[in-house]
Amino acid sequence: MMDLTDSLLFRLNFDQLDSSSSAAGSDGLEVKCNGMRARNSTLLCVPIMAETVDQMVIDMGEAKAVGADLVEIRLDCLKVFDHNQDLKRLVKECPLPTLFSYRPIWEGGQYDGDEKTRLDALRLAIELGADYVDVELQVAREFFDSINGKKPETLKVIVSSHNFQDTPSVEALGNLVARIQASGADIVKIATTSLDITDVAHTFQITVHSQVRIVPFIGLVLGERGLISRILSAKFGGYLTYGTLESGIVSAPPQPTVKDLLHLYNFRQIGPDTKVFGVISKPVSHSKSPKLYNEVFNSVGFNGVYAHLLVDDIAKFFQTYSCMDFAGFSVGIPHKEAAVKCCDEVDPVAKSIGAINCIIRRPTDGKLYGFNTDYVGAISAIEEGLKGSPNAGSVTGSPLAGRLFVVIGAGGASKALAYGAKQKGARILIANRTYDRARELADTVGGDAVSLADLGNIPPEDGMILANTTSIGMQPNVGDTPLSKHALKYYSLVFDAIYTPKMTRLLKEAEECGVTIVSGLEMFIGQAYEQFEKFTGLPAPKKLFRKVMENHS
Ligand code: NAP
Repeated sequence: MMDLTDSLLFRLNFDQLDSSSSAAGSDGLEVKCNGMRARNSTLLCVPIMAETVDQMVIDMGEAKAVGADLVEIRLDCLKVFDHNQDLKRLVKECPLPTLFSYRPIWEGGQYDGDEKTRLDALRLAIELGADYVDVELQVAREFFDSINGKKPETLKVIVSSHNFQDTPSVEALGNLVARIQASGADIVKIATTSLDITDVAHTFQITVHSQVRIVPFIGLVLGERGLISRILSAKFGGYLTYGTLESGIVSAPPQPTVKDLLHLYNFRQIGPDTKVFGVISKPVSHSKSPKLYNEVFNSVGFNGVYAHLLVDDIAKFFQTYSCMDFAGFSVGIPHKEAAVKCCDEVDPVAKSIGAINCIIRRPTDGKLYGFNTDYVGAISAIEEGLKGSPNAGSVTGSPLAGRLFVVIGAGGASKALAYGAKQKGARILIANRTYDRARELADTVGGDAVSLADLGNIPPEDGMILANTTSIGMQPNVGDTPLSKHALKYYSLVFDAIYTPKMTRLLKEAEECGVTIVSGLEMFIGQAYEQFEKFTGLPAPKKLFRKVMENHS
């Protein structure tokens, strides 16, 4: 098991990093951001993968317009390719520095012709003024021999290795770097495949180590679990990272778009000292937290970046990413309960709930401290909703007091809502697919239990509240709903914890029945205020939170 803090290599090299020491950086290319110098020298490269040269020329113009630093021209994507004429045009008409690659099928590309023709095209690209060419390790020596004495001084040769099966150990990657360097590479590129998010730590270690040894290094980890390799290359000193022009057009999934890198993750502002935050969940791509926190971090000038973290095993995640820079985490499905065991200390309320949705690494001692901010966000949103509902009554305490509060689900969010509603004096009924879990939660908070299948048959009473805290109806399964429409008319208020989509089928049908509805977006915003304050130590700019979330809904 790898522990970044315990790795002498990592600690030593990480400590040596500062914004001015990026030895492997973008020599000759000054990277700017809104007129200011960027906080890193990692280049942003757009792979140009059109099937025609005309389209490639258009895409190169767009790459410049969206803020890329260079383009990788993937010659293997061209359906028709006249070497001499097309390469001349591509070099001449490209408004950015050019990186040519002609990837063969045997290394994950599309070219299946003979090797001489392929390497001739790359040699011609060099003659015509390419800034970079990328050749595969397998043919690198032969390629260098063939350009011996003819290599322009400004040309940089990237020697690459792609592994579509897994990510080898740090030791194996280190050996691979040495082999690639020995081939004569100016820049070492290693792309591997993530089977687990902790695989990316291997690449980070090699990136940091390469930077200290002044070996320009491009490290990518393919797959959704490898997404942070793209974003944090800026933090750890990668030579370049790849971003697509449009989402869905990728040379290696899951490449973010250049726009996302620049404007969602504030890529140019990521430096060696930037703190890393993220949402630990599975699935995770639906989460709007990165949009929210990055925009707010940027607005208030906080030096942090917030990412999607697709985590399978939360304990392994924390054992691996144990250094101080991995500073704070939101916790989502299905890890909220398991997260409790990963913390060194747990807030008393979160302990009673038995679930955590926020973890911070205490700057003083590096210990993990867990909180639950879900219950505050959800309960205050429901109370607000009830105040505006037709049968709000004239209660002076919480409008929840005395009402039957039905929670669908018995997971992390369910516990938070059941606990919060109980604290406000509501009577709790837990309805869950797995009855035993419903019973267990009901016993813990002091309430009744029913199986989800029987929920439609409970005797109705005045003022009932329904809270869905399962993922039934969440994107992409937006046609699903946890309770049939005819049962909804008995409720005064229906709340859905889901916020993607904002209007779930459950909420639409409740509204059609004339019931007051409260969206999970309100809960999301409420719990996010608190998390932001814990992450940054700054007061949450509440108006900005709402504005950002409304813009992204
Ligand atoms: P969790 O711990 O994994 O709990 C999932 C619960 O949902 C379990 O009780 C499970 O029942 C039930 N469930 C899942 N799929 C089901 C299905 N197909 N049919 C019936 N029951 C099903 O998840 P969580 O972290 O509590 O999150 C639950 C939901 O709340 C998610 O949609 C999440 O996005 C949302 N949420 C929203 C916010 C916000 O800020 N708005 C915050 C937190 C969570 P079993 O016990 O039978 O497995």
